Amino acid sequence: MEKECVRDLNIEKLIEFCEQNKQQGFRARQISYWLWNKGISDFESMTDLPKPFREALEKAFYFDNIKIESINRSKDKTTKILFASHDNKLFEGVLIPSRDRVTACISTQSGCPLNCSFCSTGKIGFIRNLSVGEIFGQVFELNETCKIDFGRSLTNIVVMGMGEPLLNYENTLEAIKHITAENDLNFSPYRITLSTAGIAPKIKSLADDKIRFNLSISLHSADNKKRSEIMPINKKYDLETLSAAVRYFYEKTGQRITYEYLLLKGINDDIKDAEKLSQFTKISPCKINLIEYNSGDSYIYLPSDAKKTEDFISFLKSKNLVVTLRKSKGQDINAACGQLANKKQ
Ligand code: SF4
Repeated sequence: MEKECVRDLNIEKLIEFCEQNKQQGFRARQISYWLWNKGISDFESMTDLPKPFREALEKAFYFDNIKIESINRSKDKTTKILFASHDNKLFEGVLIPSRDRVTACISTQSGCPLNCSFCSTGKIGFIRNLSVGEIFGQVFELNETCKIDFGRSLTNIVVMGMGEPLLNYENTLEAIKHITAENDLNFSPYRITLSTAGIAPKIKSLADDKIRFNLSISLHSADNKKRSEIMPINKKYDLETLSAAVRYFYEKTGQRITYEYLLLKGINDDIKDAEKLSQFTKISPCKINLIEYNSGDSYIYLPSDAKKTEDFISFLKSKNLVVTLRKSKGQDINAACGQLANKKQ
């Protein structure tokens, strides 16, 4: 019989396995504690389980452990970790320190199918969805590195690394469940932000699933023609469809959405673009994060000039919008926004 991944089992399945092996139900909770609180990576370490039962577990299940392939530290202290799965698929996680916080940026897919024109991950193409254990494992490993590098635990998590999280919906939500559950990692959902390129039906599912974490949308243009050019997903879910999904999300959750907007010179940084952005974001209360673009290895786009950026911000502020300009970090190690490409430095 083929082995199943132990981290793919929910508590009911674990209880069922315990019963089949003549163990009481509390053993399932012990296993769950080792997996999701202690983050252990083998059955041998589950020292409070009887040895024969550990052997039975070993026979039936495997671990989807991830390992660290390389760690790169930027001069601005951003740390990028290249991970490999048990079947050797690569993906990246990043630690971003700032004055009062350390944020982990995690991946949900190896590669990405969406091929946004400004993004290095998109160039790799789609390799596969990450499992619940692989998404959770990144948080666990990044937290360990965070303690070593910065002497503290993670304060925030952004699900904005490689891949489109809403195209790996179930695994991403299940991993976040384990990251936030009181008996597991017990991380506050209010300190987690998931970012989507705009998978409209799944934004509605998030509302139906009553998520407690924050939602951000990578918008990058509020003009259908321009957005389709830089983000092909806009051909499938255009701005009108996206706007309906955002409205639904707000009506159901009352949550304020954040829009991410990369400023690309001569592409989306004109006052006319700012005007369209201010119109689009009227749907519901929101914040806008403008992001400085990093060219990385690609020279298709350039960052906006300082003056253009300033005018863009002033315009949005004149419309009473909440705007922040995000300085990119980790550029020298290709860890900045849109630069994750599974490369060892
Ligand atoms: S920006 Fe995000 S959604 Fe677009 S290709 Fe890159 S990883 Fe995928």
